[in-house]
Amino acid sequence: MKAEIIAIGTELLLGQIVDTNSQWLAQQLARIGIDLYYKQTVGDNKDRVVDILQQSLKRANLVIMTGGLGPTQDDLTREAIAEALDVKLAKNEQLATEIEDFFAERDYQMTENNFKQAYLPIGAEGISNPQGTAPGVLVEQEGKIIVALPGVPQEMKVMIQEEIIPYLQDSILDDEIIKSKVMKLYGIGESSLEEEIADILEEQTNPTIAPLASRGEVKLRLTAKADSLAEAEQMIAEKIAELEERIGDYVYGYDEEGLEEAVAKLLLEHGLTLATAESCTGGLLGARLTDVSGSSAYFERGVISYSNQAKQELLGVAEETLRQYGAVSSQTAQEMALGIKKRAGTDLGLAITGIAGPTGGTPQKPVGLVYIAVADKEDVTSYKYQFKGGRERVKFLTSQQALKLLLESSR
Ligand code: ATP
Ligand code: MG
Repeated sequence: MKAEIIAIGTELLLGQIVDTNSQWLAQQLARIGIDLYYKQTVGDNKDRVVDILQQSLKRANLVIMTGGLGPTQDDLTREAIAEALDVKLAKNEQLATEIEDFFAERDYQMTENNFKQAYLPIGAEGISNPQGTAPGVLVEQEGKIIVALPGVPQEMKVMIQEEIIPYLQDSILDDEIIKSKVMKLYGIGESSLEEEIADILEEQTNPTIAPLASRGEVKLRLTAKADSLAEAEQMIAEKIAELEERIGDYVYGYDEEGLEEAVAKLLLEHGLTLATAESCTGGLLGARLTDVSGSSAYFERGVISYSNQAKQELLGVAEETLRQYGAVSSQTAQEMALGIKKRAGTDLGLAITGIAGPTGGTPQKPVGLVYIAVADKEDVTSYKYQFKGGRERVKFLTSQQALKLLLESSR
């Protein structure tokens, strides 16, 4: 087992305190025969903690972090772990009760931000802190272990001795194979998905099934433990067959396969060609479509028709339509889609027009309002969306939705 230690705290970088935690931890790891490969220190900065953690996870099986688990603004280890693993934080009721008890027993005044410490990345377990209020965090995922402990040396030491060392000794003993596969879905929300397969989720043991949601995507991660890789893969394949029977219609791919690859496969399979006209996404959809090698077989062209003039000149949108309904409207989107399809001579034409923000919104047409129209052999249909978030997010979610519409219309 390869381990790394990450000490978190700006005080450490400023030289105000010495990192005795890492020294002590290094001694404990050596004692139980775990190889320590790197020791690093990072300040109280979430992006840098995420960065360093992701880097460590690539190299090591075990990452031990100390510091930044307290209740204040600068304590962001929990958030950083969640972000590094691409999961949300959720309140753990057991930890919330333990924290309440800690305060009640000592007659201390408890503030709302103390509950922050009861939030854990989804999939993580809490580690009780008998000497303080900040619980530790334990994540075991795809053969990797993350342990996060409070910075206060005495609290950290007790938790290592009482909980973590016995746990690590067990993990070293059973060198099982751990294999994961991620199922990717579209056209179904996270909560409907969980409802649809509630019984399967309920009875999961091995493989485990974890629903994940991130920017416009829903995924299920299946993880199997077995004595051999073949056995683990077989167990995952069986569970996938069971899931596909129920929700197969929503599955577009596995693991690294993105929506753009799924669209590519379908267009090729059906021998369909595509052209796009983008306004608010500024070519993002075209860029994603052409990220797939071999895309020239189905992607004919994409235009960025940002101004009204471009929409008229390049796509033939009527001046009257723009005046009457505006550039961000169902009518304009439809004319854009028909126009690009006709000019490119493709089977499909897809058009996007919307308000990416943060400026430019009105009460009637707020930021995040997007129309996507798809023209196929028979018809043109437009869809209206109201996305939330900043400019980059609105643009990304729009491209995501456009790819999903392409999947639907090329099925
Ligand atoms: P708290 O609940 O006390 O806020 P925390 O997990 O947020 O705990 P920090 O705020 O990062 O931890 O650190 C708390 C204190 O622990 C620091 O002021 C420092 O005295 C000590 N400490 C933190 N990290 C280390 C370290 N690597 N080595 C030695 N002492 C440390
Ligand atoms: Mg703190």
